[in-house]
Amino acid sequence: MPLVKGGCFCGAIRYRVNAPLAGAAACHCRKCQYGSGGGPNYVVLAPRVAFEVTSGHPVAHASRADSGAEVVRTFCGTCGTPLWSDSPNLPFVAIRAGSLDDPSPAKPELHIWTEAAQLWHATTPGAAVFERGPAG
Ligand SMILES: [Zn+2]
Ligand SMILES: [Zn+2]
Repeated sequence: MPLVKGGCFCGAIRYRVNAPLAGAAACHCRKCQYGSGGGPNYVVLAPRVAFEVTSGHPVAHASRADSGAEVVRTFCGTCGTPLWSDSPNLPFVAIRAGSLDDPSPAKPELHIWTEAAQLWHATTPGAAVFERGPAG
């Protein structure tokens, strides 16, 4: 996938990724359902070392993921756009696909935590599906 840029709906926060993305996924965990508005959370995985905020300051909220890891989710305090989440035990920042300038390449290769999926959540044909994280 190409290098990407993105930001929030109101334009206050902008970021870019200075390296190829490492993949795309959809997380169905209950916490992500809050962040997405109800569906799975569609994300692209950006190497943390290549992820750069170029303007603005998002609001950050830390919690424990179902895996037990700490996850910090960010969003725009003005327009509410969910932006990315970061977990110290992963080398990636999980950028919300909807915040990309062009979300079209973000077709999920993985669906994770489907044990928490609602019955009406869809999965992408051809994607790998995991009831929990990819390791579990
Ligand atoms: Zn905004
Ligand atoms: Zn999740």
